[in-house]
Amino acid sequence: MENRDLLCENLSVSSDGKTLLFAGYDTNALAKKYGTPLYLMDEMRIRERIRTYKKALFDAFGDKGHALYASKAASFKRLYEIMREEGMGIDVVSSGEIYTAMKAGFPMAHSYFHSNNKTDEDIYYAIECGVGYFVVDNAEELFAIDRIAEEKGLVQNLLLRITPGIDPHTYAAIATGKVDSKFGSAIETGQAEEITRTALSLKNIKLCGYHCHVGSQVFDSDVYISTATVMLKFVADMQEALGFKAEQLDLGGGYGVRYICEQPKIDIYENIMQLGAFMKSEAKRLGIELPSVSLEPGRSIVADAGLTLYTVGTVKRIPEYKNYVSVDGGMTDNIRFALYGAPYTILPSGKMDEKRDMKASVVGRCCESGDIIQENVMLPSSVGRGDILATLTTGAYHYSMASNYNRIGKAPVVMLTPDKDYVAVRRQTLEDISAQDE
Ligand SMILES: *Cc1c(COP(=O)(O)O)cnc(C)c1O
Repeated sequence: MENRDLLCENLSVSSDGKTLLFAGYDTNALAKKYGTPLYLMDEMRIRERIRTYKKALFDAFGDKGHALYASKAASFKRLYEIMREEGMGIDVVSSGEIYTAMKAGFPMAHSYFHSNNKTDEDIYYAIECGVGYFVVDNAEELFAIDRIAEEKGLVQNLLLRITPGIDPHTYAAIATGKVDSKFGSAIETGQAEEITRTALSLKNIKLCGYHCHVGSQVFDSDVYISTATVMLKFVADMQEALGFKAEQLDLGGGYGVRYICEQPKIDIYENIMQLGAFMKSEAKRLGIELPSVSLEPGRSIVADAGLTLYTVGTVKRIPEYKNYVSVDGGMTDNIRFALYGAPYTILPSGKMDEKRDMKASVVGRCCESGDIIQENVMLPSSVGRGDILATLTTGAYHYSMASNYNRIGKAPVVMLTPDKDYVAVRRQTLEDISAQDE
């Protein structure tokens, strides 16, 4: 057994060395109880991560530090309930996420509505639901919100999304902070100042400050320092040029998590404390009052609180080429390898004591050659039909990106606490899959 593959403290091995334990639970037993594919989530780990962010933001910025959960990472009713219980704010990106949060009784005044293309229907719905802040991507959207707020007879609070021109050194598909991006208005091109002027001229909205998000799966803490430098300078420039004093500055999410043991562990608390010290001194240097500061992590709240279990079906050995281990899920529950070749650690749930002497591609059951979960995985050569495999770190962007391709039902989400395991999202049935067909 290679300990270095137990990426997070919630992973361990049974005393006989055979079974992978997650949040103290026997993963093989859970696979038997709930069936596979199966998403597991460690509720205490989620709460612990939330508390770390909240404490760090408070210790770094006092009452002016706020933590929001970017709920697109994993979005279902139970998670919004946990956010409500923990006093965490949320980001939402669609009417569907707003609806789900409402069903969980989430106080929508503590929500921020993102997206680069909110439809009029989204805007009406969000205003009706009392979403606290819109994070406005572009001028057309700004005019639409102003118009709809006027119809509704209220003034809508909002932030403007700015592109600071920072390269976060991550996958292109999840880098968002460069000038050439579908998100936000760039400082460099003058569009950020222009949209600030426009926002200040409109009557039915209140500009509360700025937002940026430079990317996801970011490991380099300098990225946040550079982002804060650019954004604080912009806040100071707008104060000088337009007399606008930003009350809020949201620096986005993006802290990286470990999918494989070669990736570093980030000390979130330490990072935020350093960011706080830097921002305070930078604001002083610029002669501005530091706005309230928020961070909106998604992945780093839920990723390592999640794990996916599969049952092995076919094992195909092609002499001189490759071995294929097929599992009963695939790109329908994990699209990330197909999207950008994301790395994963895959462990044999019931054979942790065996030597991993077979190299294989772990593939799904979809009719698509790109339906691969991971290549070059080392597994025991005894792995065969009926064995359980666990893919680690699947709490973020897995269930929320799941699809019904090939009319495969979505896997359930089972939550684990020290007292009990319970279903938070049930498995889709065959009826669920065809429920919309007329
Ligand atoms: C996706 C996203 C986040 C969260 O990113 P993570 O990498 O999951 O922390 C935060 N803010 C915005 C605007 C996003 O689009």
